[in-house]
Amino acid sequence: MEGRRAPDHTGHGSRRMTVATHSSFDELTHELGDWSIARSDLDAASRDRSGSQGDGSADLVVRAGSVEEVQATLRFAHTHGIPVVPRGAGSGVAGGAVAHPGSIVLDLSRLDRIIEIRRDDQVAVVEPGVITAALDAEAGLHGLFYAPDPGSVSISTIGGNIATNAGGLRGAKYGVTRDSVLSLDVVLADGRLVTVGRETLKRVTGYDLLGLFVGSEGTLGVVVRATLRLLPRPVAVSTVAAYFATIDDAAEAAIAVRASGVRPVALEIVDGPTLAAIDALDGTRLRDRGEAFLIAQTDGYAAGIEAAVIVDVLAPLATYVEASDDPVEGARLMTARRNALPALEVIGRAVIEDIAVPPSRLAEAVRGIHEIAARTGAQIFVFAHAGDGNIHPIVVVDHGVEVLPPYVARAVDEIFALALRLGGTLTGEHGIGLLKRDWVAREVGSDIDALQHALKNLLDPTGILNPGKAI
Ligand SMILES: Cc1cc2nc3c(=O)[nH]c(=O)nc-3n(C[C@H](O)[C@H](O)[C@H](O)COP(=O)(O)OP(=O)(O)OC[C@H]3O[C@@H](n4cnc5c(N)ncnc54)[C@H](O)[C@@H]3O)c2cc1C
Repeated sequence: MEGRRAPDHTGHGSRRMTVATHSSFDELTHELGDWSIARSDLDAASRDRSGSQGDGSADLVVRAGSVEEVQATLRFAHTHGIPVVPRGAGSGVAGGAVAHPGSIVLDLSRLDRIIEIRRDDQVAVVEPGVITAALDAEAGLHGLFYAPDPGSVSISTIGGNIATNAGGLRGAKYGVTRDSVLSLDVVLADGRLVTVGRETLKRVTGYDLLGLFVGSEGTLGVVVRATLRLLPRPVAVSTVAAYFATIDDAAEAAIAVRASGVRPVALEIVDGPTLAAIDALDGTRLRDRGEAFLIAQTDGYAAGIEAAVIVDVLAPLATYVEASDDPVEGARLMTARRNALPALEVIGRAVIEDIAVPPSRLAEAVRGIHEIAARTGAQIFVFAHAGDGNIHPIVVVDHGVEVLPPYVARAVDEIFALALRLGGTLTGEHGIGLLKRDWVAREVGSDIDALQHALKNLLDPTGILNPGKAI
């Protein structure tokens, strides 16, 4: 094989990895056929929504049409020492799907079949390229629903959600993607196909390798099939929207809702500047009602009763409260929240952060972020999955700014330090990707850092799977 020295994206300088030149890809093209190989649009296939530019594009995209093609691609890459970047929809915001020159993008989006929905077991068996909202819609036809619903639900894939352990707006009650995954078929770095987990609701046999693969950001294996837990579709949904004088007040109110004994499905807060951006995008006038917005949803037979409790908690704290049992109105208000990130992306380049803190420290964290904005001069917008303490501070710079000014890096570093000081974490749901690796050891400590690299070496001894990401 012809080869050249790969740029080091491992961050661990010492690994020597040989990169195939185009002529050795002919072997793979021959095995898979032209249908699955793309040499155009390499730039788009090498980016995600993080805005990270990388340092060029991948050399090849494999659009896998079967598990066997995934296996063949990994066997080939393993033999030749070629980095492989698994890819779902590229909606990730941590640089996890960013691919560098010399690598292969392994696009799973063609594997998009919902294989079966078993109503009695309340499970779905799906391929990784299924769009998250499509699974939820299909489950609805069986009186069921799929709980994880990231803001990107209409574009992200189940494989990407599993690889990032995506959270979502219903996380306050139903948790994150990990809570809905029962078993996975995974192709390992050398092409072996294994199953982790079981299609049962309970299981204690052996170590929890299923948990290891969920959230591993494509660095330990490629998910090619998943059995997912579904839940009975709620008979009713109630929505409470409240407006506050400040985002700090909204954060305190979210803490009060959690203390009320009601467990809402969604409990989200949005600050005033983000509301203004949403208004500009949607043509609404939400900001006229307050400087911060809180939306809570309850579901099930007691939805209305629980919503009434939330209204009672919020009324003394808010400038305005409204409640609705109408699912259409509820969906409209939730859409406003879902549009928070797209609305900010209209204003400028959004540097998306994703810390999580213990929920009781939410207000403290929001205040700390405002102090950081004032200190560094960064324009920081804030919205949060307040029900689980997951905050998105979004630093916005002008469109077209490719190299972020030093004050942005200072602000982001201070946000990470704040999260760790409050007992929180660097990422609640987006993953470490390419962008937060420098901070990992500071959160997990040197022993766990070393253990993570040892696990990676065990499962991927030639280091081909999404090198330079996640750990
Ligand atoms: C508007 C908007 C709103 C968002 N809201 C949320 C939110 O509320 N919650 C949230 O958690 N995220 C959110 N995100 C981020 C993003 O949508 C999620 O991270 C999502 O899970 C990524 O899915 P994807 O299919 O686009 O994966 P990609 O971006 O293609 O990949 C993400 C990572 O998964 C790996 N990967 C992809 N498929 C596989 C596979 N089959 N096997 C192994 N590894 C794989 C990739 O290598 C990469 O590391 C949002 C993004 C946008 C643009």
